[in-house]
This record gives sequence, structure tokens and C-alpha cells, in this order.
Amino acid sequence: MRMPKKYFQQEAETMPVEEIKKIQDEKLVKQVKYVYDNVKYYRDLMDKKGVKPEDIKSTADLHKLPFLKKDDLREAYPYGLLATDLNKCVRIHSTSGTTGKRVVAFYTQNDIDMWEECTARALVAAGATEEDVVQVCYGYGLFTGGSGIHGGSHKVGCLTLPMSSGNTDRQIQFMMDLNSTILCCTPSYAAYLGENLKEKGYKPEDNKLKAGIFGAEPWTEEMRRDIEKALGIKAYDIYGLTEISGPGVAFECEEQKGMHINEDHFIAEIIDPDTGEVLPEGTKGELVFTSLDKEAFPLIRYRTRDICILSREKCSCGRTFVRMTKPMGRSDDMMIIRGVNVFPSQIETVLLNCGYAPNYQIILDRVNNSDTFDINVEMGTEDFSDTPKEITKREKKLQDAMKAMLGINPKVHLLAPKSIPRSEGKAVRLIDNRKRYGITI
Ligand code: ADP
Ligand code: ZN
Repeated sequence: MRMPKKYFQQEAETMPVEEIKKIQDEKLVKQVKYVYDNVKYYRDLMDKKGVKPEDIKSTADLHKLPFLKKDDLREAYPYGLLATDLNKCVRIHSTSGTTGKRVVAFYTQNDIDMWEECTARALVAAGATEEDVVQVCYGYGLFTGGSGIHGGSHKVGCLTLPMSSGNTDRQIQFMMDLNSTILCCTPSYAAYLGENLKEKGYKPEDNKLKAGIFGAEPWTEEMRRDIEKALGIKAYDIYGLTEISGPGVAFECEEQKGMHINEDHFIAEIIDPDTGEVLPEGTKGELVFTSLDKEAFPLIRYRTRDICILSREKCSCGRTFVRMTKPMGRSDDMMIIRGVNVFPSQIETVLLNCGYAPNYQIILDRVNNSDTFDINVEMGTEDFSDTPKEITKREKKLQDAMKAMLGINPKVHLLAPKSIPRSEGKAVRLIDNRKRYGITI
């Protein structure tokens, strides 16, 4: 067997910090001018703040630029933040939004190539070579998970199994028959696969897996150890978001101590979520990204709402890119349920559309490493007199409407009027029992 390559793009991944800064300075000046000239929405924000592209001479001036928030992306839906001719775009991806209006991100071929190079870096950091068989069981489609890793796997030259999510029996059959060596999916699905393998009588050493790349949702160190043990692998974290490209914005190396942010393509800042002030390195705060190379959907100072800490401590892997901790929480009310982003306001919209008052309670838990998602909804006094059969029918209808809005299936329970407990007059909307497992988002 050949010695695996340590880096996918060694020069970029290990350049001295001063070099990274220099590249960021140059790219930022160009990107700000490009966005100002091509994106009216952001130009207006800059004008309103009294900043001109000439004011941005290096990353030291970054703080002068206005932030972009998810609300801006919704307001500008679908084309308002597009910086290039639509004819130059080759793909869109999308993430769910609060009002049913989705956030849509556009990609040129160069954008796709850059993104796939990022996921290729993550794969190589996890030990991937062209001898590997990469089983991708992230969802394909509008979701970025599947195609992002898939593209990186091609770039490394691995044999790629585009499984997509679900159908666990088939996943296991292919994993065993085709000798998958690297598994890519959400951490909760990895744990679920581990349990299924055990139930089928397989031992961890029966599979050929050596590594897994797991992300898109929060997971704990404890979960990592469980997965590593159950599958007999080393488990790596990967982070990303559709708005900035997708998974691979940051990735873990063999150190498993935080994820390296691909700083030649993205600038990361940590801000105080309340004041917007930039915080010194090593401080916990909200992560903000500026894309430096994107052509179609170049976002400047995009607020991720993810709370984390950045560290420039030297890493034994030789990579010089700054590392981020796992997201430790959110500065908004977004929940991540089975890897899908869900906002309470989406649930309220469905309730109102279906003729219910927004008296509800979300209950999340984790059973067998998989999220459970229940929504209790109070009925109006007139519905309460319905027969149990009619109530079950109404529950099913509401459940279908929730599924259509959220993309995942909650269990809906219709309850008697005024049965959801109020504390100080205000109902507690979310009971997240997953916290006892250390899941904080
Ligand atoms: P993704 O494909 O990564 O789920 P989305 O755009 O749908 O992309 O969601 C992005 C959000 O998912 C991030 O802002 C973050 O809150 C969460 N997320 C992504 N990766 C991770 C990870 N490794 N650990 C914890 N949360 C993550
Ligand atoms: Zn490292």
C-alpha cells in the first residue's frame, strides 16, 4: 500500500500565517469591489453605512463592512444577492427558511470546484487516497451534504458510492459487499448504522471502514467515542453551511481538536452577537464568514449564528489554518433536528395556515441515537368536541403540513384547550431533552 498523502493541497494548507493574511488582504479588496459593483442589495447596505470599496484596504478594515443576516438572504430571495449572470451558474442548493421562503445559494463551475476542493481536503485529512471506497449517505438533492462530499471524493479519486440517506439495509449490504473504507453521514446516522450492524451480528472488525466524516449537526465527544468503537474507525468532524458553500468550510485533522477553516477561501471572525463588535481570538462568540473566491453568491460578513471559539494554536498536523471548536450553541432560536434546520416560526406558520392558534410545545429527545420530534398543539374549544377518530385525522393532516414545511416528520398531538403549561403567562415553546446527552443545538 502506498503512503497516504497527508494534504490535498499542501501549499495552501500549510502556508505560514503571514502568507494567509496576505492572500486574504488581496482577495478581500477584490471581492468587496466585485460585490459592490455587482450586487445592488449589498451596495445599498454599504452605501447606507457610508463605506466605499476604496475604504477596504486589508482585512484590518473588515469590521467597517455591514453584516449580512439570514433575513437579508430571505429578503433578497431568489436573485437579490446573485453577483453574476444566471447563465454562468451551474447549480443551486437550498436550506430551509422560517416562512417557507427558502434560502437559495447559486454556484458557478468555479464555485463548485472550490467547494469540492475543500471537501477533498477534509477527505484527505481523514486519510483518503484513490484506493478508498467512500460511502456517502448524506442526502443528495437541494441539501449540500451529499453532493459536496461526493465531489470532493471524485477529486481525490476515491471510488464513490452515492448512496444518499436512508435504506439502512442497503447501506449495510453495500458497505460490506463493496468494502467501503470511509463513511460520510450525519453523526446520528453513523451511530444508528453502528447499532444496526451489531443487531445483524457484525463485529466492528468485520467491516473495512477506517474513517468517518460526520457533520451537519451537533455531536459530542462521547458520541464520537461511541461511534469509533461501534464501527472500528476514527471519526472526524466537518462543518459548513449552504450560504457559504456547504460542508467543508472547516474540517478536522488527525488531532481531532477543532476544525481547520479553509482560510484561503473564507475569512472567519468572532463577534459579540448582541453588539456586533469583533472579539479577540480565543473568545467565545458568533462566527461570521466572508467568502473570498465565490463568483455567484459571494457573501460578506455573513452571520452564521453559530457560537464557537477560534484558536490559532499550532497544530501537530502541520496545517496553519485557524481552528474552530464545535459549535457550542446558537444565537438564534434555530434547532437542528435529525440534521435539518428548524425554526419555531416555521411551525407557527403551519399552525396559522391550518387554522390553529399558535399554542404549541416542541419536545425533542434522543432515542437510540436518533432525534425524536413531537409537537403538542392545543385545539380550539369547538374542535375539542370532535370524535377521537376525527381528531386523529386532524393530527395526520397537520403532521403532513408540518412535513411539507420542515422537510422532516414530527409526531403531532392535538391536546385539550389550555393544556400546555404556561409559565408567567408565556408558554415554554421548546423542551429539549437532548441536553442531557450534551447536545446544545
Ligand atoms: P449543512 O449541510 O451543514 O447542514 P445547512 O446550511 O443546512 O448545512 O446548516 C448549517 C448549520 O448546520 C450550521 O450553521 C450549523 O449550525 C450546523 N452544522 C453544520 N455542521 C455542523 C457540525 N459539524 N457540528 C455542529 N453543527 C453543524
Ligand atoms: Zn490539524
